[in-house]
Parts: sequence; structure tokens; C-alpha cells
Amino acid sequence: MADGGPILMLVCDGLGDRPLEEYGDRTPLEVAHTPRMDHFAAQGECGLVDPIGPGIRAGSDTSHLALLGYDPYQYYTGRGPFEALGVGLDVKPGDVAFRFNFATVEERDGRLVVTDRRAGRITERTAELVAPLNGVVIDGVTCLAKESTAHRGALILRGEGLGAAVTDADPHADDAPVHDAVGATAADAKTAAVLNKFVRLSYEKLKDHAVNKARAAAGEKVANIILPRGAGLAPAIPPFNKRYGLRGAAVVEVGLIRGIARYCGLDVVDLPAAVNGGLDTDLDAFFAAVLAALRGHDFVLANVKGADVAGHDGNAAAKILFAERIDAALEALMAGLPTDVHLALLADHSTPVSVRDHSGDPVPAVFFGPGVRTDAVTLYGERPAATGGAGHLRGRDVLPILLNLAGWAEKYGA
Ligand code: ZN
Ligand code: ZN
Repeated sequence: MADGGPILMLVCDGLGDRPLEEYGDRTPLEVAHTPRMDHFAAQGECGLVDPIGPGIRAGSDTSHLALLGYDPYQYYTGRGPFEALGVGLDVKPGDVAFRFNFATVEERDGRLVVTDRRAGRITERTAELVAPLNGVVIDGVTCLAKESTAHRGALILRGEGLGAAVTDADPHADDAPVHDAVGATAADAKTAAVLNKFVRLSYEKLKDHAVNKARAAAGEKVANIILPRGAGLAPAIPPFNKRYGLRGAAVVEVGLIRGIARYCGLDVVDLPAAVNGGLDTDLDAFFAAVLAALRGHDFVLANVKGADVAGHDGNAAAKILFAERIDAALEALMAGLPTDVHLALLADHSTPVSVRDHSGDPVPAVFFGPGVRTDAVTLYGERPAATGGAGHLRGRDVLPILLNLAGWAEKYGA
């Protein structure tokens, strides 16, 4: 393996956007005053990146797989396994994983009917609810469950001969009966049978649970069942460090991407509580953690979440402000970066405030560091980047470009 210099991939989640009439047809990033990002653009090489492919609306999970060099069409097996990783479950290849909701059901004519798919948007004491279900064994299959944020959680089924092509227990509607999961093959049917028993068991364990008694007494909806959905078979992902000969780390705010980083074998850095993935996150602490990670690693993936939050909120002013907050915090990062670092500044997808969700628009990217072929672009933004020397790339191109710049790339051929 070649031996190169340090690499930083700085991902501003959802930063890409579309022109807004109320801002003179400029994007939030083009409106924002970002002199440090502009410095990278002026001293670096810009381009546009389609995270997955042109027009494909990328999720944060699929996009990060691509940015880390993995083909998401090969390795992404549905949201369940990645959600389970994100909440901190120790997912292993071959596990069948689900997302779930705590929900409210009532018995009508012997059937369990969902009256609230989100159990009144429960936010407290869900760890206590999940405790009696975590680790139960059904038909020789171990069931691992863990709460996530609010009414959400993740479930893993671990055992021999399990398939993942099963329907959801979650009926995806209120006033509908809990569905019996079904699967066509023997392996899928085995999973469905265990899943259905688990759902029933969750009701038995939760209907008289102390947390629910307290909720009922307080006039709140009870969380008396777990409704899994989105089954996926956990893939075997080749470890990042082995694949590229790097020591890699991830400084990431949110669970889903932390889970992906962990699954790829990156060292996932613990962050202080003030680094919270929101618009008020502590960016100074975030970038301090990035610098610390760079001291012990060859490669650092950093993801800061706020711009995506503002995009989903449809809040252009908040998105502009957050871009400016990142830029201000870059001052300290730039002062501490090793002189031989190669850096990519980009987004994992666009989250336009006019769309309030991820779109298939490409994102602006800058490559910066020694030896980079500087181009004529002097501003970091969607349209300036379109004229840059790196041209139009896909997410999977980003890591090889960095590896080449930093001296890690092996020669292909003689
Ligand atoms: Zn994202
Ligand atoms: Zn998003």
C-alpha cells in the first residue's frame, strides 16, 4: 500500500439547494457570507457531485456509503440494518433488522387495532419499555431491541436461516389491525413467524407495564405494542481501513450516519452533548473533535447536520445562518489543520428549502490541498462549482480523487 498524507472529508449535510425568488434567485449557500469556504474554492478545485447518480434523490445513508467508496446498490439493504446500527445495536452480517414504532393498540373482537401509530409521540422512558423485550429468544432466534428517538426504535432478529423478504407488521395507518407479517420462502416465513410472535409478546409485556400505567394515569396514550417495518438483511461490508490501507475515523452528529461509519469499520468519535445535530449545535466543539481525530488517523469523515434540518424545515433564513456559522467555525479548523492535509468540502445531497426534503440536484464540492489544480472558481456555491475543474462527478468518485491527491492511490497497470 502507498503511504500518503491526511485526508478530511467535510460533509455539510443537505447543504445543496435551489435558487429562491425571495433571495434574488440565489441559493441559500450563494446568499450566505462564507469567506472561508470561498477561500477553499479559490485555492482549490471545484465541481458538482451527484451523490448516487444524476437526478437520484439520495438518502444520507446511501450517499455516505457512496462517499466512502461503497456502491450503495450493492451494499444498501434497506433502512432497517442501518437504523439498527445508528441506535447502537451491534449488527452482524446475516442479521435481519427492522425499524419500529411504539404504538397504541386496543383489542376489538380478538384483534389488535392500531389507534395511534406513534403512541401519542411518546418521548420518555422508552428504554424501560424496551427492556423486557431485548434479548428474548423465540424459536431459537434472539431478538435484540433498542429505543431510538421519540416513538422510534430498531429490532434485530439473529439466528440460523432467516430471510428478510417479509411484509411489515405495521399497518401504516391508524384504525387498522396489526398486520401478520408473511414471507414466501421457507427462510422468509421463519422470519415472519418469529416477528409475529415478537409483536404479540410486545403487547403482552407492555399492556400492563408500569410506564404505561403512569401514562394512562396522566391521560397520555399508552405505548402498548411494537410495530416493526422495513426488514433488511445486514450486509457484509468490507472494512474501510483494510480496503484502502488507511486508519479512518468519523466525527458525525447523527445516529444513522454514525451507524454507517461504524459498520464500515471507522473509529467513531464520541462527541459532547452540546454537539447535538441541531441548528444550535456547538460547532467549535465539533471542529475541535475533527482536529483531534486527524491527529490519530489518516482519514476523517466529518458530517455536520444543521443545514439539512433547516432544509427539511423549509427555513431559508436558518439555512443561510447555519452556513455562515459553519464558515465562522472553520477559522479554528483551518488554523489547526496539518499543512499537508487534503480536504473535500461538500454535501451528501441537496435538501432544498422549497422542497423540504432531499432532491436529486447535485451538490457543490471543493478539493483543496497541496498540488491541487486550482481553477477559476472563487466562490463556494452551486453555480460557481458547476464551472470548476473537477467537472461533474459521482459520490463514489470523491474518495479516489482524495486518495490520489494525498498519495495513497495504487497504480492501476504497469
Ligand atoms: Zn444527509
Ligand atoms: Zn435529510
